[in-house]
Amino acid sequence: MAAILGGGLGGLSTGYYLLKNNLNSNNNLKLYLLEATNYCGGWIKSIRTKDYVFEQGPRTIRPKGVTGLNTLNMIQDLGLSEHISPIKPDHPAARNRMIYVNNNLYLLPSSLKGVFQKNEPFSKPLIYALYHDLKKPHKQLKDDSIYNFVERRFGKEIADYAISPMICGICAGDAKEISVKFLMKTLFEWEQTHGGVVKGLMKSLFSSKTGNELVLSDLARKAQEEKWSVYTIKGGLEMFPNKLQAHLKDNNVTMNLSTKVEAIEFVDSGSVSLNIQTGEKLSVNHVYSSIPAYCLASLVQKQHPELAKTLKDIPFVTVGIVNLYFATQKPLIKPAFGFLVPPIENSPILGVVFDSCCMPDQNGTVLTVMLGGRWFEEKFGKNTTSENLYNIAVKEAN
Ligand SMILES: Cc1cc2nc3c(=O)[nH]c(=O)nc-3n(C[C@H](O)[C@H](O)[C@H](O)COP(=O)(O)OP(=O)(O)OC[C@H]3O[C@@H](n4cnc5c(N)ncnc54)[C@H](O)[C@@H]3O)c2cc1C
Repeated sequence: MAAILGGGLGGLSTGYYLLKNNLNSNNNLKLYLLEATNYCGGWIKSIRTKDYVFEQGPRTIRPKGVTGLNTLNMIQDLGLSEHISPIKPDHPAARNRMIYVNNNLYLLPSSLKGVFQKNEPFSKPLIYALYHDLKKPHKQLKDDSIYNFVERRFGKEIADYAISPMICGICAGDAKEISVKFLMKTLFEWEQTHGGVVKGLMKSLFSSKTGNELVLSDLARKAQEEKWSVYTIKGGLEMFPNKLQAHLKDNNVTMNLSTKVEAIEFVDSGSVSLNIQTGEKLSVNHVYSSIPAYCLASLVQKQHPELAKTLKDIPFVTVGIVNLYFATQKPLIKPAFGFLVPPIENSPILGVVFDSCCMPDQNGTVLTVMLGGRWFEEKFGKNTTSENLYNIAVKEAN
């Protein structure tokens, strides 16, 4: 018997792959999924009306790399292929990404030609950043912050206006605090091994590629051939966890919603006891956790205080999400993915996504404003209200 803690996309996917391995190896492993709330999907939540879809968490998925292609295999297997809406390289949402600096929106270059031109707020064409990387001697390091790495290799402007806002867009965090090895491992390894990113890139282009053993589904092959930038799901991303949940149920996984696990007790090398909030206990042989690290910390605190401390040290940030809908005939926004705000601007918002440009079947103008992240408490205090966040979002989106 095995239990999966958490019914977000992480927990549901764990269930999907455990089932797959189970079926492939003819095991008869009994699976339980325990989710604290009455909903499976975690951060993924879509609100659908006839005119628009509001995404309250993620909205686009990257198809690139082995993990991206593997996800597309899973999506096809779940029967979701016809609901996929790709954003291809010539789509405005793929080409046009902006940053907000000094009360102005600036388009980031998206073509080779743009790299040779001067694009505000950068003081020089971006090609100079590549030159900077080529001439800068490399420094032997075990790890570094993303900000320090980018500043060293490409200069301060790239660190402030390109990479720091990008990190806010990916994980609502501060590039000065996040490990480069965690999010940009290949680039860091190129610096450490070859003396710079451009040098590493050149060498990798000429080195023989190790074969990728992943068998691609039709959908994954199509994404590769058509060079999708990202994709969304028509009708809302929530369809993805909904389908996964149904798949697990159909394959006899016991789905326990409204079941908060309060403690994990490792009894011996083969059994674990889970204490549920209701007072019940569940005894299993394996536990897979997909809950946030700080939540898991409190579950193991009593038996493993050292582990709990390490888990608590993993930062967790809060993002405020405000979806806005304007019932206009013409779009109120430029055709683009949206804009990000560099932390150096000291704004309460991290960025705005232009949903009506990225997602199909949206009438009017739909925007999502993301607020706070790493700076949430600093900007809004500990007890802010939804109304306060809404007012700030409307003011900033204007
Ligand atoms: C605003 C926002 C926008 C994002 N946009 C994108 C995007 O566009 N593209 C993208 O790829 N990624 C995006 N992400 C990231 C993506 O949403 C997450 O990586 C993903 O949803 C995390 O899934 P998870 O299952 O790991 O965690 P979660 O979704 O947090 O799920 C964890 C689950 O565990 C449950 N739980 C917690 N404690 C317990 C307990 N004690 N017992 C039982 N259950 C418990 C919770 O209720 C929750 O359901 C975004 C994230 C945010 C916040």
